[in-house]
Amino acid sequence: MTSASIPHIPLRRCVGCGKFRPQKELLRLSILPGPAGGIDVGARQGGRGAYLCRDRKCVTLALTRHALTRALRVPQEMISKELFDHLLGAVS
Ligand SMILES: [Zn+2]
Repeated sequence: MTSASIPHIPLRRCVGCGKFRPQKELLRLSILPGPAGGIDVGARQGGRGAYLCRDRKCVTLALTRHALTRALRVPQEMISKELFDHLLGAVS
């Protein structure tokens, strides 16, 4: 027996708690292209992205540590109250 039949599971790091988890278990955030900008939640593709556990704790941690601004390289103003509320809604 070999381990060749075990499928490779892509792991991504949560910017909240810092743990690695299978990509499909995480919520993906990405920068919206175009002049309007903004942050998209749950997008499958796109450029620079950040991942979060589907856990309110991780959303709060990411916000308080400014982890999203660092991971997405956006100004802090872009991490709005609306985005925070949207994220909390998406994980609960
Ligand atoms: Zn997490």
